[in-house]
Amino acid sequence: MTRVFNFSAGPATLPESVLRQAADEMLDWRGSGMSVMEMSHRGKEFISIHAEAERRLRELLAVPKNYKVLFLQGGAIAENAIVPMNMLRGRESADYIDTGEWSKKSIKEAKKYGKVNVAASSEKDGYTSVPKQESWKLDPRAAYVHICSNETIGGVEYHWTPDTGDVPLVADMSSNFMSRPVDVSRYGLIYGGAQKNIGPAGVTVVIVRDDLIGQALPITPSAFDYKIQADNDSMFNTPPTYAIYIAGLVFNWIAQQGGLAAIEANNRRKAAVLYDHLETTSFFYNPVAREDRSLMNVPFKLRDESLDDAFLKGADARGMLQLKGHRSVGGMRASIYNAMPIEGVQALVAYMKEFEASHG
Ligand code: PMP
Repeated sequence: MTRVFNFSAGPATLPESVLRQAADEMLDWRGSGMSVMEMSHRGKEFISIHAEAERRLRELLAVPKNYKVLFLQGGAIAENAIVPMNMLRGRESADYIDTGEWSKKSIKEAKKYGKVNVAASSEKDGYTSVPKQESWKLDPRAAYVHICSNETIGGVEYHWTPDTGDVPLVADMSSNFMSRPVDVSRYGLIYGGAQKNIGPAGVTVVIVRDDLIGQALPITPSAFDYKIQADNDSMFNTPPTYAIYIAGLVFNWIAQQGGLAAIEANNRRKAAVLYDHLETTSFFYNPVAREDRSLMNVPFKLRDESLDDAFLKGADARGMLQLKGHRSVGGMRASIYNAMPIEGVQALVAYMKEFEASHG
């Protein structure tokens, strides 16, 4: 068996030990005589898996008691609609911060449900930075302020938490969820799809302050009403059981690594290997402002784009896959989520040096 270094932006590489445990438990989960996939979501076995996944997540992120943790379906793109449906709460408009492709998608979708005030945007600089909070034109009557805490395509990440006063802060954390400690109490709502740092596609995690739910727009589908889901322990509809099981195993793995502080330290070490190299060469470049560079997704370009295909081909031949940048921006992108070992990043940098030496 050969496992490659998989730099995919998502679905993405998972810890090998988690995959091995899932394989061991595939046919017979702990003497139950069945696979987790085959279990009733109302049975005691799955209820214990679900409860344990939530307990671990709460412990790792130190989620305060007055927050609900929901395991839903639909992914972050569905949340782009579900958030305004639930969070407008009778108010007219919401503030959005525009930092790139994923913010733009959120803004476009929210406009179907209410007014959107784009309170700040980094469009002018080609989405290579996070606008400083001093420049934000926030509306004190806004229902909430929405940010994308890590732009997966642009490689732009918030390394600070905005201060939105009494207006709830809402974050799409899809691509940096569980990559570092977060002070959940600073947010009204956090959401993210699982398929980067915590498991297979199919489960969406929503962490929401309990006083903000229960005022969904009447058109809100019941399965997407946070209050209804919270009252039913995320089992108003059949939850994505297998994805929740794997997420639970990944949470255990994070705890074994020493928790989120240790995960963050490791992520910083890994990203530094790549960013430090990008500082030393002009053959490759990353356009993002230094203080806003993502620890999770590192886009980089070759100055001579005619070499892109040769670079990717050589990477494939060396067992480094999925380095092609998003179709909207081109170039390369290395996604180096929690489960990417530092050896993968070191191998990539060694290859970048080799490629530059033979083509530079
Ligand atoms: N937001 C961000 C920041 C993302 O990275 C993604 C997926 N790449 C999404 C939203 C959309 O997620 P999904 O396709 O699971 O709905």
